[in-house]
This record gives sequence, C-alpha cells and structure tokens, in this order.
Amino acid sequence: MNISDQSQIDFFKSYVNNTQKLVIVPHNNPDGDALGSALGLCHTLKAMGKDVSVISPNEFPDFLNWMHGVEDVLIFDKQQKVASQLIKDAGLVIFVDFNALSRIKHMQAFFEEDETPRIMIDHHPYPDANTAEVQISVPDASSTCELLFHVLDQAGFKRYVTKEAAECIYAGIMTDTGSLNYNSSRPETYFIVAELLGMGIDKERIHHLLFHNNSFDRMRLLGHSLGVKMQRLPEQRAAYIDLSKEELRQFNYKPGDTEGFVNQALWIEGVQVSAMFVEKNNVVKISFRSRDGFPANKFSETYFNGGGHYNAAGGESKLGLKETVARFKKVLKEFCDEHAY
Ligand code: 5GP
Ligand code: MN
Repeated sequence: MNISDQSQIDFFKSYVNNTQKLVIVPHNNPDGDALGSALGLCHTLKAMGKDVSVISPNEFPDFLNWMHGVEDVLIFDKQQKVASQLIKDAGLVIFVDFNALSRIKHMQAFFEEDETPRIMIDHHPYPDANTAEVQISVPDASSTCELLFHVLDQAGFKRYVTKEAAECIYAGIMTDTGSLNYNSSRPETYFIVAELLGMGIDKERIHHLLFHNNSFDRMRLLGHSLGVKMQRLPEQRAAYIDLSKEELRQFNYKPGDTEGFVNQALWIEGVQVSAMFVEKNNVVKISFRSRDGFPANKFSETYFNGGGHYNAAGGESKLGLKETVARFKKVLKEFCDEHAY
C-alpha cells in the first residue's frame, strides 16, 4: 500500500512504545469496520502489555455483539464521567474510521477542549486537520481494518496481533467491502486477508455472524422495504427507500436492522445511485450508494450535511421524512442536470 508518509507510522510506533494507557475511539453509530478496527487494535495493544479502553460515542448494533471484547466497550453517551476520566488519564487517544470530530457527535465538544495527544487511523477522503495531530489517512484502503493491519505490520507490532484481534480486523474488511464485492480491487487487501486466515480465524463463523444471523423482524423489514417502499426515479437513474418511525416500530426495529438495505437498491439494472432515508427521533439518517461516476460523498456534503466515500456516503436532515424525500428528488434532479450524470 502506498502510505504517503512513513513518518506518520514512525510517530505511531514511538507514541505507542512510550505510552502505557491508551484509549481508542470509533465513530458514532459504529459499523463493523469502526468497531472491528477499535477492538482489533485494542487486543493487539493489550498483547503488548498496555492498558487499553475502547470508548464508543453511542451504542453499536447487535450484529456486532459477537466480537471479542465488546462487553468491555464503554459507551460515552451512557458513561460520560468514567469515559472522560479515562481519556484524561490516558497518554494517547487513537481515533479509528473517521476523520472529522463531527463524526463522534456528543464526544466532539469534549475533544475540542481535551489536550491528550491524538492519532487518527482512517480511510475516508478529505481529513479535517483538527481531528488529530498525527493522521494516518489512506483513502485507497478498502477499510480502516485493512489499513490498521498494514500499520501494525509496518510498526513491527504484527506479532502481537492475536487470533481475537485478527477476527475483528477480518470482520471490518468484510463489512466495508461487502465480502470483497466492492472497494477491493487491490492485491494488498487479499495478502492481508490471507495473513489473517493464517492466524487461525474462523472465516465461516464470522460470515455467519455478520451476514446470516438476522432476526425474523429484520428480514420482514427488508421485504417491506424492497417490496412496498422502494421507488424509482428513472430520469436520474436512481432508486430510494424511506422508512418512517411508525414502520420501524411495526417491525420491532433495532439499531443496525437497516444496515445494507441501501446497497440492494443499487442492484437494479441501470440504477447509478440509491438512497435510504430512516426517520430517527429528531433527524432523518440518510445513506447513499452509487456506481460509475456519481460522487455520493460530494452530493451528500452539498445537500445533506454529510460526506463519506465516492460511492458510499451518509448524511442527515432535520426537515422531517416527507420533506427530506421531496428535497432529495429536487436536488438530485438539479445535481444530475448540472453535472450531466
Ligand atoms: P452508511 O450509509 O453506511 O451509514 O455510511 C456510508 C459511509 O458514509 C461511511 O463511510 C460513513 O463513514 C460515511 N457517513 C455516514 N454518515 C455520515 C455523516 O453523517 N457524515 C459524514 N461525513 N460521513 C458519513
Ligand atoms: Mn470504514
């Protein structure tokens, strides 16, 4: 992998070598890559004899509950006092899978004041300079987990990657690439997967736990989303699904239940962009996926206060569900007309 600046890895190495107490922070609403990289790094550092805590901004979805060490993850929203003290006592904070403080929601204000040194390991484009003083940012990496493994290897820490760490890292690569379906055309990803397999991970078990362990309600919600709710916008070569709070309630929604639905709307012949709108308490959470040249991150950043990768991005809207969808249709038309997508 082409790491732009080897000196960042040298910083990482010397910081880690010289620090006993560390805290790792993934982004808000952590996904498999965020939690996988946080726990994979946590287990590796523990094997080096360090005191390590993982602090997530909020709760993570049930489908990641199998990961080794999840029971020790602190939730900032619920345990703010203990978590804040842990960060103050730490010699180093490592941010994984995000590159702007806005991505950690309620923790943002805390870190704007806090002076503990910070290192970021991330694969999203356009890192914000205020995120951390040392930034290991490689947008070409399939996932933060792939990048993490590479960094641990380069820093000489690979021998501390335990089987438990390897399982978390593998899970992150699989969730961010849809089991090596997309974002995975570089040979380096496969060399790393091969190394992880060599560490004795149970690949079949991880795939089962990540993708084939759905609740009955979630499968019914998927059926409802595709069969009843999905709409097409043929002129813009788009498809979208919106789900109201009431619909979520009908299907006993649990966090993580709509994960991946947005990908499926992109599997339609001729569709270049798909969107998913999920009504939460005060906000509509939005996901975008695209193919070909449509820049999902630019679209989300321009109209929905979001960002992400070229073909996978997210954002949010405070307009309410109906109005958000109406605005989406309007601005998508403008955007496609203006840029000839
Ligand atoms: P998802 O649709 O799975 O929630 O997110 C897709 C991608 O967009 C992920 O890489 C995620 O980090 C990014 N993303 C999701 N929501 C937001 C957001 O509100 N702001 C920004 N900047 N990125 C987001
Ligand atoms: Mn990621």
